Amino acid sequence: MSWRDLYCGELRSSDIGRLVTVAGWADTRRDHGGLVFIDLRDHTGKIQLVINPERSAEAAAVSHEVRNEFVLRAQGHVVARAPEAVNPNLPTGEVEIQVENIEIVSRSTPLPFQLDEEHVDETLRLRYRWLDLRRDRMQNALRLSHAVVAAIRRTMDERGFIDVWTPSMTRGTPEGARDFLVPVRLQPGKFFALAQSPQLFKQLCMVGGIDRYYQIATCWRDEDLRADRQFEFRQLDLELAFAEVEDVLAVMEDAIVASFDAVGREPPRQPFERLSYPDVMRRFGTDKPDLRYGMEIQDATEVTRGSGFGVFAGADCVRYLVAPQAFTRTELARLEEVAKEWGAKGLAYLVVDESGEVRSPIAKFLSPAEVAAFAARPASTVLFAAGDEAGVARVLGGLRVHLGRELGLAEGARDAFHWVLDFPLFEESEYGGWTFLHHPFTAPVAGQEGWDEELPVDVRGQHYDLIWNGWELGSGSIRIHDVEVQQRVFRTMGMSEDEAHSKFGFLLEALAMGAPPHGGFAMGLDRFVALMAGEPDIRQVIAFPKVASGADPLTGAPTPMPADVLAEQGIQTLPGLPR
Ligand code: ASP
Repeated sequence: MSWRDLYCGELRSSDIGRLVTVAGWADTRRDHGGLVFIDLRDHTGKIQLVINPERSAEAAAVSHEVRNEFVLRAQGHVVARAPEAVNPNLPTGEVEIQVENIEIVSRSTPLPFQLDEEHVDETLRLRYRWLDLRRDRMQNALRLSHAVVAAIRRTMDERGFIDVWTPSMTRGTPEGARDFLVPVRLQPGKFFALAQSPQLFKQLCMVGGIDRYYQIATCWRDEDLRADRQFEFRQLDLELAFAEVEDVLAVMEDAIVASFDAVGREPPRQPFERLSYPDVMRRFGTDKPDLRYGMEIQDATEVTRGSGFGVFAGADCVRYLVAPQAFTRTELARLEEVAKEWGAKGLAYLVVDESGEVRSPIAKFLSPAEVAAFAARPASTVLFAAGDEAGVARVLGGLRVHLGRELGLAEGARDAFHWVLDFPLFEESEYGGWTFLHHPFTAPVAGQEGWDEELPVDVRGQHYDLIWNGWELGSGSIRIHDVEVQQRVFRTMGMSEDEAHSKFGFLLEALAMGAPPHGGFAMGLDRFVALMAGEPDIRQVIAFPKVASGADPLTGAPTPMPADVLAEQGIQTLPGLPR
């Protein structure tokens, strides 16, 4: 007898009369004194088994022993359920199997949680992930993840990309995080870094004439874990030779649209909107705005130049947003707290009530022309930020996101995908001097290669970010393929020639041996899938994730290592380290 003829969720009334064998897990068992009902479950659904002692005393005896999550194999005839027993909520709800033989294939100890239990503590779910994986939520998430990856692979294949495997163990790659280090037994005292991304290898593929590379690449970054961040994660990583910005964007858009199609969801319209970095910063106060709603930041710097309100009069920049609601004092106090979290000292506001009356502690300082300039409709609130431009953007950007969520402004709106372009190539480093905004391999806009190395403020990079409903899905750029330009970037970052050669000598040599123009992108796959699945964090779409502390509750990793194992690798742990 084979394990099964078909899956549990496949049986329909057209199967009535068939003798079938099914196998799966006992989802529930109901003992009706005599008749025993078992819902047998596999990854496709459930089928009701009926065990009648009059039909088979042996089967009845076995069924009394069955407990939740035992693995069973059962054989019997498919019959119609009595009309009152039809379950319209179950695809198999019109039929059941009258069991002739049943066998316990595998038993289960008592469960740490029931599969139909909601709100199970997450650490417990991860500790017993094999049970959690049996639940619909995880089954659906992993299947959706697979469908997305398959659609992406198809898209890449159709567009001439080839999947090239690149090493995980490499030299440090500058993606802005700490490296995970791998000691090397054969060379004690030396370490590999786990790749933060395949960035340099994919560029070398381009120099190597690969033309179009992609990979669903695992990347490792030693950063604090968050809802959308794990130590290790996957990205769709791609690179194209002889590419312009638009070539890269088009491929990524195709991959997104194919993913939507694959999961039966209405895809976003192509081309996605393209916005410039200075523009989004001014209008939304962030480089990853949620464009499902408006509530754009407006400028009032000129209008308030000679204001009677000193805070406005003396500020470099005064901006505001108009929320579509007349807030109460309590609500305004809460919003002030939010503004403070984003660095504001306080929150100036004008509340316009239903009748158009303005209520505000600062109204008396403002001229009628100023008040009129804010053009707030009845039943709205004008919220201000004043100060330097970056600070104002941060505060109003933070308030806009907060209000968008609190007021449900995005509800029912179409998905909003867009690109942000025209980023600066450098930014001021927190350690003084200048550093890259994306990574040091991003090319400047053509014609801007002669930037001032001491003050590289005006040079823009050919860098682009992809945003979905306010989430950054990934970034990429056209890369530098001219070794001189690459060296200028390193110099501008304050890197000596020796340091540049010792860290990136291989890249500089490759760029000097016939490098084609090239560019690419990387999209965080787990985040993309989590958003697709409507899950709040990426752990819900990863089979075996880690908890926020970075530990794996399932295996207990990470663990200390015996001193002799460490010694073999040339490692000694410092005394006094927390264990
Ligand atoms: N390597 C970059 C990253 O991982 C993406 C890219 O520029 O292609 O973020």
